[in-house]
Amino acid sequence: MTDTSCKKTTMPGAERTVRVMFVCEGCMAIYEASQVSRTATKYFRCEQCDGIVYRWSGNYDYVQWKRYPKEQAISADPTPQRGRSSTRAR
Ligand SMILES: [Zn+2]
Repeated sequence: MTDTSCKKTTMPGAERTVRVMFVCEGCMAIYEASQVSRTATKYFRCEQCDGIVYRWSGNYDYVQWKRYPKEQAISADPTPQRGRSSTRAR
């Protein structure tokens, strides 16, 4: 038997990642996420204004949400949105 445990396995070629951009309608923060093909029903909440940036349900899931700090055109407004307390969801 040959030992191949140290060899790198080939990457799963069928799996391809698509980067998708989303803009929060509440505060215009820009996010980037990876689209993966698996069934999911979720939503993503804005880190800044706590609003729903995107809601999805179907054959694709969105993971690895990253905020674009460079597009931060808005001044940090401490005013809570719609009376909702701005608790940090972390
Ligand atoms: Zn927002």
